[in-house]
Amino acid sequence: MTVLVTGGAGYIGSHMVLELADAGEKIVVLDNLSTGFVWAVDPRATLVVGDMGNQALVETVIRQHGVDAIIHFAAKIVVPDSVADPLGYYLANTVKTRAVMAAAVATGVKHFIFSSTAAVYGTPKVMPVAEDAPTQPESPYGTSKLITEWMLRDASAAHDLRHVVLRYFNVAGADPQGRTGQSTPNATHLIKVAVQTALGLRAKMDVFGTDYPTPDGTCVRDYIHVTDLVGAHLAALKHLRAGGASMVANCGYGHGYSVKEVIDTVREVTRVPFKVDYAPRRPGDAAAVVADPTRAKTILGWKPAHEDLNEIVQAAYAWERRLANGPG
Ligand code: UDP
Repeated sequence: MTVLVTGGAGYIGSHMVLELADAGEKIVVLDNLSTGFVWAVDPRATLVVGDMGNQALVETVIRQHGVDAIIHFAAKIVVPDSVADPLGYYLANTVKTRAVMAAAVATGVKHFIFSSTAAVYGTPKVMPVAEDAPTQPESPYGTSKLITEWMLRDASAAHDLRHVVLRYFNVAGADPQGRTGQSTPNATHLIKVAVQTALGLRAKMDVFGTDYPTPDGTCVRDYIHVTDLVGAHLAALKHLRAGGASMVANCGYGHGYSVKEVIDTVREVTRVPFKVDYAPRRPGDAAAVVADPTRAKTILGWKPAHEDLNEIVQAAYAWERRLANGPG
């Protein structure tokens, strides 16, 4: 039994490969290296460089490696980019993902785990947000993921395929052992930007909006440690292999931090009292997005172990320093 990890050279995928390898699983990675790195793929996995939209290639990889489960990370993930290039996002996240699903069906792979996003909820009306909340994505990115959730649901109903859709909240941090981390140049995510600012890699950073209806006026998000996130995938894999039913589950902790709280934590961890500029709201940001993770905990038996924001920031900081010295 081998697990196919698409996007295994990327941020979350490379952590997944470590988690699977540490659990003794055999792994084949399919990645086109558009945003991933060869050095990020643990040598215990086999790396195939190629396009997930090439169904024949995906089928060959599945057959050659005896794949029984697919964990599908490969995607485009930057919300503002998706507004500028919607067709690029529908191609990568919807059309090419269809090819991966079709390859699974054609070769008889029965287990499929799909990276989705809290962006499918848009601006949630009830907080924390549960999986049965209305889905109203506000960007082509969110829509491209939601359409793919629907494709997977329909394919599972028609074929001998079961799936777990995991809707990620704000993923941050890095492998506690320092083996991989968020390495995308020009990443826009808050913790990464703040850590880079503390290290002097950026001249300054902006806080986007201080007039939100939240306790301190800045947006609240549910930051989840990437190691806990990949742990949820491992739990999903066990669930599917044990015959568990298809399901959708949120991946977040159920509590949020404001932008100001995150910045204070980064200042505390790095001991650098870096300055921030207060800027206008960023278009498309919801005031607060916090997960209800009950389903992942009760059905998948997911047990998060890295909920402390300090720990998340410390891991991100350690990785950023390592990256500055050239990893790999
Ligand atoms: N944010 C910020 N400055 C930055 C990057 C992000 O104030 O340089 C804010 C952003 O407006 C949002 C929160 O931090 O309220 C989280 O943004 P991020 O891009 O990390 O994740 P998102 O929630 O958009 O997926």
